Amino acid sequence: MAELTVTVDRDACCGVGRCAMTAPEVFAQRDADGTVELLESQPPPRLHEDVLLCAELCPCSAISVHRS
Ligand code: SF4
Repeated sequence: MAELTVTVDRDACCGVGRCAMTAPEVFAQRDADGTVELLESQPPPRLHEDVLLCAELCPCSAISVHRS
């Protein structure tokens, strides 16, 4: 299965937290300002579907996913 590499753009993040609710093993929200914190840049295959959903649903397009 292809690897996924995740990146986040904290400047674009509007702190909605949808990602942290959908994939809490990969994304968290920083206590300071609620913006996204990336916990796992190369999530295991069992989380790929959730990560792709997060990128699709992020209202600020702050999550990018690259396949390799
Ligand atoms: S879903 Fe998008 S806007 Fe919301 S916290 Fe995650 S990265 Fe930020």
